[in-house]
Amino acid sequence: MSFEELYGSAPEGTWAAPGRVNLIGEYTDFNEGFVMPLALPHTAVAQVSRRDDGVLRLYSSDIEGGIVQLRIDELEPLANTSWAAYPAGVVWALREAGHPITGADIHLSSTVPTGAGLSSSAALEVVTAHALSDLYELGLTCQDLAVVAQRAENAFVGVPCGIMDQTASACCTEGHALYLDCRDLSTRQVPFDLAAQGLQLLVVDSRVKHALGDGAYAERRAGCEEGARILGVPALRDIPYEQLPQALSQLTDPKVRGYVRHVVSDNHRVERTIALLEAGDARAVGPILTEGHASLRDDLLISCEELDLVVASANAGGALGARMTGGGFGGSAVVLVDASHAAAVTKSVTEAFAAAGYTEPRVFEATPSAGTRRLS
Ligand code: ADP
Ligand code: MG
Repeated sequence: MSFEELYGSAPEGTWAAPGRVNLIGEYTDFNEGFVMPLALPHTAVAQVSRRDDGVLRLYSSDIEGGIVQLRIDELEPLANTSWAAYPAGVVWALREAGHPITGADIHLSSTVPTGAGLSSSAALEVVTAHALSDLYELGLTCQDLAVVAQRAENAFVGVPCGIMDQTASACCTEGHALYLDCRDLSTRQVPFDLAAQGLQLLVVDSRVKHALGDGAYAERRAGCEEGARILGVPALRDIPYEQLPQALSQLTDPKVRGYVRHVVSDNHRVERTIALLEAGDARAVGPILTEGHASLRDDLLISCEELDLVVASANAGGALGARMTGGGFGGSAVVLVDASHAAAVTKSVTEAFAAAGYTEPRVFEATPSAGTRRLS
């Protein structure tokens, strides 16, 4: 159903916000470290009009069930477990921050695959925040939008995510990866013009999501915090890569040792990646991705057979490098390829999955795209 059919008049405006994929820097955000996501061409689109009667009406063309109608002064954290909690949480977070939102009619539709680790949830939140900021003339910066969106997801929906996903959806620019320092939230646009260098970044959605992942995030987070405490630093971000051997010698728990080695070395991989990209050598990032995958698999222990197979079969098929991306235990991997090898690499991965008896993976090209924007 169109906005007009649902709500009886044309929307005041239309906005789009993308999903994202993280190139490098995994589980580093809550350690106040570095990440480097890029925005996908896939977006959540919101058509929105204001209301002045305290009513919020939400509709997603991707979900059965019609309009969800809520009163904005009755929005309560953790009370709503449906998809509507994401946009409703944004309205709640804006009002919590003192912004005088008096209601809205919202029509959402999205091309971001859900549950594939590509942040369909952040796209939904950021597009809602952007639309309301524009319509209510709140003047929020892209960083402000990210903070509101993250607060919606953390406090209202109840998902303890870091700030990366929302910052990527809000602040990325076309042709760039976004370097984000998760301590002070400063950002830098890093040139990532793959086409100019004859390269492509492929995203391979493994189509699996193992239940094991549910408690793993909290467990890794606690392990990293314990490591920082033993090492006497505010966060693992404060361990320079050069001091890693010395730090590891102070840790006895093999799991904590692995987590610390992953976080400190992945922060270093982000720095190496930036240096290469700023020198115009994206091709040399390939081996860093594969190194990062080994670290996620062997030290952080968050990979799975399907993701390991994506990386192995992509590299065997001629990729420059590959790694799983996102929370792990399924979801997606990123694969850097020469454009001329993209088809052969895709074939190699697809055949390996067929031979293993797995569901056919979904493979698409991730052109570094723009963050949230108003369309009309
Ligand atoms: P990811 O963000 O990695 O895709 P999440 O589990 O964080 O996975 O978010 C997925 C959830 O976001 C969905 O289960 C749904 O509740 C919500 N969502 C995403 N896209 C849409 C959409 N187009 N319409 C309605 N809800 C959506
Ligand atoms: Mg999400």
